[in-house]
Amino acid sequence: MKTFVFHPAFTALVLTATTLVCHGQEDLSKPVITTETKKDADGKDVLYMYIDGIKVHELDTTKQPAPPVVAPGEPAAFFAAPADAIVLFDGSEKAATEKWTDTKGNPSGWKVVDGALESVKGAGYIQTKDSYGSCQLHVEWASPTKVEGEGQGRGNSGVFLMNTYEVQVLNNFENPTYPDGQAGALYGRKKPLVNVCRKPGEWQSYDIVFHRPVFDESGKIVRRATFTVLHNGVLVQDHTVLSGGTSWMGPNAASEYKAHPDKLPLALQDHGNPVRFRNIWIRELKD
Ligand code: MG
Repeated sequence: MKTFVFHPAFTALVLTATTLVCHGQEDLSKPVITTETKKDADGKDVLYMYIDGIKVHELDTTKQPAPPVVAPGEPAAFFAAPADAIVLFDGSEKAATEKWTDTKGNPSGWKVVDGALESVKGAGYIQTKDSYGSCQLHVEWASPTKVEGEGQGRGNSGVFLMNTYEVQVLNNFENPTYPDGQAGALYGRKKPLVNVCRKPGEWQSYDIVFHRPVFDESGKIVRRATFTVLHNGVLVQDHTVLSGGTSWMGPNAASEYKAHPDKLPLALQDHGNPVRFRNIWIRELKD
């Protein structure tokens, strides 16, 4: 009689696989997320995560193909804020100091250079003094003209909605990295539909429509966040339902949703590269 014997690693994966989000509502049950815990080189437990069968931060392009490269249209005059927007940065020192702080509420170490807000290594994230939830956000960014580093080390920053959910900023012009970590990705969760990056030093735009996650009184998530993102005017996230947190938790891992207030500051990431931002405005939306 033929007996099936599963490889122990497979058995362990099946046994430890956990559907992390299952709330009895169909739209919350997708995508399928499974996990397995493995020891890293230091013997520490690392939670490896698979979304729809693909490892988070997968580098193997046969398993996670890179988004197609699309040349953006020629840049025109940038969008000035519409009349009902809250202008968060208009290029002035005044806006930088009145609207933004470091993560402790003190003046930020980021600097204003030629009308742009520039990340300073070691200064930490910069965040708005005011808090926001669901919103439409316009932000322009440029990776450093001088190309340094590779992969995640080349022009890395990020736009953090509610100080928590990262739309990745990275110089992905001829700079491959794992697709869920490239420009326009919801970091570690969803790769962009296409790679529409401009060259280093050139101004690029994000237009983001974000609906915040909703938690019940016990802290359980009852509605996931959604993102629609246009990068240089091209759709890269099409009403994407964010399947969990976007924090770096180690290779092939990701963080989970954790309950938080309905409004939190908008933050920009200091990842050690002098990425610049300008023309930042926001319109609050109903949940
Ligand atoms: Mg980043």
